[in-house]
Amino acid sequence: MDGNRLMAKKLESFLIKKEVIYSHCLRCGWDWIPRGKKPKFCPKCKTSYWDKPKKFRLNHKIKFC
Ligand SMILES: [Zn+2]
Repeated sequence: MDGNRLMAKKLESFLIKKEVIYSHCLRCGWDWIPRGKKPKFCPKCKTSYWDKPKKFRLNHKIKFC
């Protein structure tokens, strides 16, 4: 009984992946290891667009005069 339990525990630890999945913020370049699945925002610069590359969008129309 105890032997089987021990085997099960060993198997369990064997099955746990030792991969380190880290996230990289494209805005500030911060690397971190998220606790959940996919982080909602970067812990350093707090942007929710950390996984999206910067886009240079013009909010105002440039007037040529
Ligand atoms: Zn960031």
